[in-house]
This record gives sequence, structure tokens and C-alpha cells, in this order.
Amino acid sequence: MQELTHYINGEHVKGTSGRFADVYNPATGELQAKTPLASVAEIENAVAIAAAAQPAWAAVNPQRRARVMMKFVDLLNRDMDKLAEALSREHGKTLPDAAGDVQRGLEVVEYCIGAPQLLKGDYTDSAGPGIDMYSMRQALGVTAGITPFNFPAMIPMWMFAPAIVCGNAFILKPSERDPSVPMMLAELMEEAGLPKGILQVVNGDKEAVDAIINNDIIQSIGFVGSTPIAEYIYGNGCAAGKRVQCFGGAKNHMIIMPDADLDQAADALLGAGYGAAGERCMAISVALPVGEETADRLIAKLAPRVEALKVGPYTSGNDVDFGPVITAAAKQNILNLVQSGVDAGAKLVVDGRDFSLQGYEDGFFVGAHLFDNVTTDMDIYQKEIFGPVLSTVRTQSYEEALKIAMDHEYGNGIAIYTRDGDTARDFANRINVGMVGINVPIPVPLAYHTFGGWKKSVFGDLNQHGPDAFKFYTRTKTVTARWPSGIKEGGEFSIPVME
Ligand code: NAD
Repeated sequence: MQELTHYINGEHVKGTSGRFADVYNPATGELQAKTPLASVAEIENAVAIAAAAQPAWAAVNPQRRARVMMKFVDLLNRDMDKLAEALSREHGKTLPDAAGDVQRGLEVVEYCIGAPQLLKGDYTDSAGPGIDMYSMRQALGVTAGITPFNFPAMIPMWMFAPAIVCGNAFILKPSERDPSVPMMLAELMEEAGLPKGILQVVNGDKEAVDAIINNDIIQSIGFVGSTPIAEYIYGNGCAAGKRVQCFGGAKNHMIIMPDADLDQAADALLGAGYGAAGERCMAISVALPVGEETADRLIAKLAPRVEALKVGPYTSGNDVDFGPVITAAAKQNILNLVQSGVDAGAKLVVDGRDFSLQGYEDGFFVGAHLFDNVTTDMDIYQKEIFGPVLSTVRTQSYEEALKIAMDHEYGNGIAIYTRDGDTARDFANRINVGMVGINVPIPVPLAYHTFGGWKKSVFGDLNQHGPDAFKFYTRTKTVTARWPSGIKEGGEFSIPVME
């Protein structure tokens, strides 16, 4: 079996802790590799290398740092198929979806090419008599990121591209379930001209994460993953004096108004609910039709479409709508939650529990499920299922639908389907969710805007990518400068005020 490595100081380095995690091919259920789990000493070694390399990198002018990003974009495009195949093999998502995972990361790298403009400071000439004032954004030093399994290309790039173009060194601790693509990205960054030690990939689990939190040299931590771990890292990282941003779980709703185009809404729910087997933090997992008639019509349109979804291995190319889930344990968790919904009295309109694929009986496939008559006290409503399961909660009015969505603890994404501009506008203004779609089911902002939810979907002040990333990965320093004319006036003891 293949033994994966860490990527430290530009080299593939074998793990020394003696601890490993299993990496599966979710489509076949085969154990295809083991990945090393770093010890505290291995993290400390990588951090020391990063700390030694970072000052010289920060001193490279921003235009040259941006050129590394330009070249990296070229290399990502050159290797797109290879990256997508490696990603699908470990994650299970379809090839077009895996290419999309790379592409949405690449777009943030493109944004980072604008670093010379984005890092420009402010300057005030003659802020006082003979006094000039200027602000600059300086790199933090050594930064770290901890990423989830569900976007093994996109989310690492959302973190390391802005961190590095700002002049930081970056330690990436990717998900131990699909670690190969992050490693390939680090190789490509080096091929693009990045000096050794600036981007290192250290595989690991809680031990590595705790070593990152407790390391005094590391200045910031970015995290994306489930809410309990986000809360843990945010609390402990802040207590350790670091700058921290953590993005957590989600339960995204779609409100379907009586005036919506229901064919459009049903098609949107298919892609948003079942794409990537529901393993997206922006997946729609709850449909909130307004009015019994809307609900009846929506279910009538959805049920045959959900039944017709094609589930299969990524090797089938464009012929599948979604693939397996990440592990056997994830599959079991989804099936347990489905059972809890049935036991609680929800109506399982499309039952995917017996789904099996000839030749892939050991794969972690879960068929598509559609629930109707779900109520907000049920586990299938409250918990993030992270599987191909869509729950319908019937509502009697727009206000009721809005309140249900607003009362949920998560606030990552949400959508409304309506033809009424007034309703859409009211919704966008009042909803307490970070990313809002109006007749758009998965409103993931583009690279030059910022990505982030509200409520328990986020811990920290700044969003991912866009201008916020340049704030997160730099500190502001403001210089007040006077070149005295030679007249000494003595000390000033009250706070200076410009005249
Ligand atoms: P996860 O929380 O299990 O793992 C995320 C990272 O944390 C991994 O690198 C993992 O090694 C590490 N980790 C796991 N257990 C840990 C522990 N006890 N202590 C310290 N570190 C630990 O999440 P996942 O299953 O990989 O990803 C799915 C979750 O991520 C879902 O909840 C999804 O909604 C969320 N997600 C959120 C966003 C967002 O932007 N809000 C984006 C993608 C995924």
C-alpha cells in the first residue's frame, strides 16, 4: 500500500511519528494509501523552517510574489485533469465537480495576482506641520491553515494563496482523508517559483492541530470544518494570542414562494441538494415551500427528478450526478439520521437506503433521499447531515418560513425562489445568514467578494478570500514621520493633536 508523506522544505518527507490514517477510494471502498500523522516535533520542525525562510520572502517585492501566483495559475490549468482525477480518487466526487473544486481555488489565486494593488498603503502628506503619516500592511510571519475533506483543492488555495502573496510562510494541515491534492498543489507552487519552506504540508490529526495552536511562532490560524472543531480551535487559538478565523458547519434553507417557477426551483434543489452527495457547506438541505399547494406541486416535481438521479463512481465521467460519500462511517451516520427521520414521523418520499451499485458493493454510496413533512424538532432538521438528503418543512406563510430559517443555529447560505422583487428585497435585508441567493441556489461569492456565514457557521471577524483575506494575513503599521528643521521645542505631555 502506498505510504504518503509530508511536504517539508520542498521535499517529500516520510512521517516519523509511527501513526497513520487510512485513505480510501470511496467508490470501491478500497484502502489505497496511508498518510502519516505528524507529531509535535514534526510540526515544530516545519515551523522552524518556515520561520527561517519567511523574512526573505516578505522582502521580495509584491509584484514578484504576484508573478509566482501567475505562473501557478498556468500550472493549475496545465494539470487540471491530473488534479481532478487525484481529487476524485480520494474524495469520490465526479470529475467535472472535482475540476470545479480546483477552478474555484484557482480564481482566488487569480485575485491574488492583484497583490501589488491590494497591499498598497495609505499616505497623508502634511498631516501636521512638517509631518507625514503613512500606513502599510505587513506580513504576519508564519501562518497556518487546517482544512476539511470536502474541498481538498479549493479551501487550501483560499488560504495559502493570499497568505503567501502577502509575504507570509504557510503551514497547511489538510484533511487526513484526502491529502494528495494539497501535496500536489505545494509541488506546483514550488514549480511556479516559490522558495522552499514558504508552503509546507504537514499531515495530521488532533495532535498536529494542537501543536499548531500551542506553537508560539505561528501567528494566525485559518480553519474550515465542522462547528465543534471550529469552536475549539477559535477558543484555544485566540487564548494563545493568535489571529484566528474559523468557518464551521451549515444547514442551508431554500424558501420557495407560491409565485416561483417551480420547475426552476426543483432543478435548483436537485443540484444544490444532491451535488457532491450533499457534502458541501453550501448544499441546500432544507426546502421551505410556502403554502400547502406550493408544497404539493414542488414534491410532485421533485420526486421523479430525485428518483432519476444517477449515482456512481467518478470513472463514469459525465454520466453520474454524484458519487459516494467520504467514508463508511459517514455513510452510516447519514443512514442513521435518515432512520431517525422515519422514526420521528417524517414522510420518506424517495428512499435511497437500499441503493447498491453492481461492481461497487463495497463503495460508500448512499442513494438520494427526499423527505416531506419534516418538523423543526427533528434531528434531520436540526443537524447537518452532509449527505444526499433533502428535507421539506411545509410552511404556511413567508413570515413563518423566514422565522424558521432565522431560528436555525447555522447561517452559512440560503436561497429564495420568487418572482416578486419586493419579497426578495425584504428577504435579503432581514435574513440573518451570510450568503444569500435570489433565484440562485448556491450563492458562493466569487473570488473578489468574500465568503463567510453568520451565527454558528463562523467564528472570527473577517471572511475568506476577497479583500478580507488581505486584511487577515497582514498587520497594519502606521508611521508618523517628522524631519525636524532643527528647532527643539521640548517634550509634549498631552496626546498629540494635529493643527
Ligand atoms: P472536520 O471538522 O472533521 O475536520 C476538519 C479539519 O479538522 C481536518 O483537517 C481534521 O483533521 C481536523 N480535525 C478533526 N478532528 C479534530 C479534533 N478533534 N481536533 C482538532 N482538529 C481536528 O470536518 P470535515 O468532516 O473534514 O469537513 C466537513 C465539515 O466542514 C462540515 O461541517 C462542513 O459544513 C464544514 N465546511 C464548512 C465550510 C465553510 O466555509 N463554512 C466549508 C467546507 C466545509
